[in-house]
Amino acid sequence: MGCQPESQPSLSTLEASQVTCKYMEPGQRNGEGSGDNVQNQEGPGLGGSQELLAVPQHFSQNPAGLRASCEQVTVDPVKLHQSIRTVLFNQCMISFPMVVFLYPFLKWWGDPCRRELPTFHWFLLELAIFTLIEEVLFYYSHRLLHHPTFYKKIHKKHHEWTAPIGIISLYAHPIEHVVSNMLPAIVGPLVMGSHLSSITTWFSLALIITTISHCGYHLPFLPSPEFHDYHHRKFNQCYGVLGVLDHLHGTDTMFKQTKAYERHVLLLGFTPLSESIPESPKKME
Ligand SMILES: [Zn+2]
Ligand SMILES: [Zn+2]
Repeated sequence: MGCQPESQPSLSTLEASQVTCKYMEPGQRNGEGSGDNVQNQEGPGLGGSQELLAVPQHFSQNPAGLRASCEQVTVDPVKLHQSIRTVLFNQCMISFPMVVFLYPFLKWWGDPCRRELPTFHWFLLELAIFTLIEEVLFYYSHRLLHHPTFYKKIHKKHHEWTAPIGIISLYAHPIEHVVSNMLPAIVGPLVMGSHLSSITTWFSLALIITTISHCGYHLPFLPSPEFHDYHHRKFNQCYGVLGVLDHLHGTDTMFKQTKAYERHVLLLGFTPLSESIPESPKKME
C-alpha cells in the first residue's frame, strides 16, 4: 500500500528511491500503536513529521529517502503537545533536582568545580568508561522495563510512538526517566569523580545521540538511528545503545536479518541509504 510523503515528491521520485511504506489504518496517528503485545509486534506504526532545516538539495527534494523507517504520516498535534509537556516536566522536575541532589556526592568524591581541568587523554578515557556504564545500565534497565509487570505501567508510554521523533527521546514515565535515562548517564561521572567540564560534555553528547537515535532520519556523518528505530517498531529487539549486549544476549537476531541492519552504518555520502540499500521487492508490495 502506498502512502504520501510530506513533501509530496512525484511517483517517479518515490520509485527511484524505492521508498516503501508499511500498511497503516486510515486516520491512525503516532501514539496509537499500543505495544501491548510486547512479543514481536508488527503493529502499524506511523512516522513523524520532521523538518529538514539545512540539507543538500538532493535530500531536500526527497526527504523520505532519508528516513530510517519509511513509515510516515503526520504527527498528531495533541499528542505532540502532550509529549512536549512530559519532556519539560522530566527535564525540570526530575533531571534538574536529581543533579542538585547528587551534587554533594560528586563534591565528596572529587570536587567537580576544582580549578584543574582534566587532560584530553583522561577526558577520552572518561568518555569511554561513561559509554560502557551507560550501555550496561541502559540495556538491563530497559529489558527490565519490557517485563510485562513494568511494561504496561511504565515503559508503554515511551512506546506509544512506534516511529518516534527527536523529542520522544525523553518522553517517558517519571520512573523510567530516573531509572533508565538519568541513572545510566550519571553513574559514570559519579564513579569517576569527574570534572564539571567532562560531565557537561558527556551529558550534552548523550542527549544529542539519543535525540538522533529517535529522530527518524539517517543523516550523513551522524550516528545511525536504525538500531533504536527498529526497537520502536518491533519492541523485543535492540534494547541497548551500542549493540554489544544485544549481540551477547541474542536480542538483535531479527534485526540482523533486515535491510535496516545493512543500513546501520555511518553514512559518509549524500546518497540516502534507502536508495543505496533499498527494501527487498517483496516488502515493497
Ligand atoms: Zn526510544
Ligand atoms: Zn523499549
